[in-house]
Amino acid sequence: MLNIVLFGPPGAGKGTQAEKLIAKYNLCHLSTGDIFRANIKGETELGKLAKSYMDKGELVPDSVTIAMLESEVNKNPTAQGFIFDGFPRTTPQAEALAAFLNSKATDVSVMLALDVEEQELINRLLLRGKNSGRADDSDESIIANRIKVYNEQTAVVADFYAAQGKFEKIVGKGGIEAVFDKLCKAIDKYKQVTSN
Ligand code: ADP
Repeated sequence: MLNIVLFGPPGAGKGTQAEKLIAKYNLCHLSTGDIFRANIKGETELGKLAKSYMDKGELVPDSVTIAMLESEVNKNPTAQGFIFDGFPRTTPQAEALAAFLNSKATDVSVMLALDVEEQELINRLLLRGKNSGRADDSDESIIANRIKVYNEQTAVVADFYAAQGKFEKIVGKGGIEAVFDKLCKAIDKYKQVTSN
């Protein structure tokens, strides 16, 4: 199985690249942000809870997020592998994911971390806010809080994978195709390792 953690701050291009990667590698895309937004739209209990955190740019609590992610993986028993997009965002989430995948005799193959400088992130998010109407992209103070939360709680998750030799930093500028190309090269390296 090829299980990729697509990582990076808000606005780094995870969603865009994930769409291209699932088509090329035939993987199942699980974006925790998208799943929360679908729940908000459907007015579920989970959606109501998630919204109260997302509107402030805070993280949804680990217990809720982990249970949701595990249930989404279980809904796709025939998947050849997954792209985890927006998850794990904390070290406890990374630990839970490892235990969960190990119980299924698999593991994360590699974390691909998109690296983009902060001003570029803010510009991209504000543009996305105008086009998509996402509330958390339209307000500069919420964007600033998301980047702060990323720096304080999420960035450290890279160390978890680096310690296992599964961390690849990808410079996220230079156009969508150029970034995609770099991601594919990194994946192909780890694919050889996992299939041996
Ligand atoms: P972005 O990466 O652009 O900020 P996402 O769509 O991935 O956007 O996430 C939007 C929001 O959903 C986050 O700010 C957070 O509130 C919530 N969220 C998404 N994934 C997680 C997660 N793994 N743990 C906790 N909260 C999450």
